[in-house]
Amino acid sequence: MNPRAELRVLFNRREIEAAVRRLASEISQDYRNKNPVLLGILRGSFVFLADLIRHLDFPLEVDFIELSSYGSSTQTSGKIKVVKKLETPVRDHDVLIVEDIVDTGLTTAFLIKYLKRQKPASVRLCALTDKPSRREVPVKIDYIGFTVPNKFLVGYGLDANQKFRNLPDICYFEGEA
Ligand code: 5GP
Repeated sequence: MNPRAELRVLFNRREIEAAVRRLASEISQDYRNKNPVLLGILRGSFVFLADLIRHLDFPLEVDFIELSSYGSSTQTSGKIKVVKKLETPVRDHDVLIVEDIVDTGLTTAFLIKYLKRQKPASVRLCALTDKPSRREVPVKIDYIGFTVPNKFLVGYGLDANQKFRNLPDICYFEGEA
């Protein structure tokens, strides 16, 4: 990372709050009587998931899964592995994946396939941010917070080398290649 790159706000906390409320209202219409499992992908989604569920006033369960890609951290190898499994049996349950950002799509495409093998009643995807310019595999996102430009984002759960997750706004580095 360029040490002289400046942190800029892309979406501030009020804009995020409005997006989370809108997503919660869309999700409520579809899941009110379904007792869904909301499945957060660790670690980036934990802030978003925590805010989202506090706007959902119907019964639901929460679980987490951790995934990582094989090989080098700078080059996407396309191979994903499960680092931490979900604990909840999802067979015949409605599962809503909650993700911070869909970039190449490899992570969520893998997860949807992985979950479908466990025969859930349904699987849908809610992403706070979508970076379509980077997509390598097609992924259907059912609920989208923001469509974002091709910039590396941090804050509101998103990290750079495990830092910046605690920023309340979604930010990017100006001057970063
Ligand atoms: P994908 O498999 O769609 O390429 O990537 C999904 C994962 O890559 C996200 O869950 C996130 O961890 C990471 N990622 C992709 N783009 C960004 C970004 O702009 N900022 C951060 N912090 N992580 C990102």
